[in-house]
Amino acid sequence: MAEAKYRRVVVKLSGEYLAGDQPFGIHQPTIDRIAGDLIEAQELDVELAVVVGGGNIFRGVEVSSRGVSRARGDTMGMLATVMNCLALESALERLGQSARVLSSFVMPQVCELFTRSAAHKYLAENRIVLLAGGTGNPFFTTDTTAVLRAAEIGANAVLKATNVDGVYSADPKKDPSATRFERLTHSQALEGGYKVMDATAFALARETAMPIIVFSIAESGSIGAILSGDGQGTIVAG
Ligand code: UDP
Repeated sequence: MAEAKYRRVVVKLSGEYLAGDQPFGIHQPTIDRIAGDLIEAQELDVELAVVVGGGNIFRGVEVSSRGVSRARGDTMGMLATVMNCLALESALERLGQSARVLSSFVMPQVCELFTRSAAHKYLAENRIVLLAGGTGNPFFTTDTTAVLRAAEIGANAVLKATNVDGVYSADPKKDPSATRFERLTHSQALEGGYKVMDATAFALARETAMPIIVFSIAESGSIGAILSGDGQGTIVAG
């Protein structure tokens, strides 16, 4: 079995990806495939926490123009991430993998509250920990949540799953001359203004010296490939 490069990681999955080819909601075959990929990755003896976005259900910024305050809209967005985590927990459990949703909000009938000690406990028990509710604060993103929680739980890296296989000098879908970076420093990622992650997330990663690996999740098995050093992506570190 290939040996993983990291002991504990936070995987960031965008909500939008969970919609598959639908414009909205959860595409069950996609979430099932991702659950399978996560299980395969965990079998490399890596402790996995997953931050799931909510853009497939709700984005705060989109309603703030329609009379709902941004803070209220963002709260609705954070609740959308809870739904995605519950769906992913079910998909993992159907495949025989124990998982736990830990939320930034108190919702005892739904899932447990995130605490560092609960996360450590469940990760040590080989459960996949699903981190729901974003940071619990409006005006942030789930990318920032991934970096924050990674720093809090002592993860070795954030694996940022996207539709493209790394950070490019320009949008590769629009500009055929765009080139992929093998490696960037946090400062270069910030200064370059690359759209792949928001500036708050990059700034917190620089502050906490947290490596971020940007990779494509389009192919099955890509999380495991990145963990075992075979996958293609951009490393943002240093
Ligand atoms: N959100 C928030 N605070 C957080 C994380 C998320 O307010 O700490 C809200 C925000 O409205 C955002 C929505 O939740 O638009 C969904 O998160 P995000 O856009 O990061 O999801 P993704 O793009 O990964 O699907």
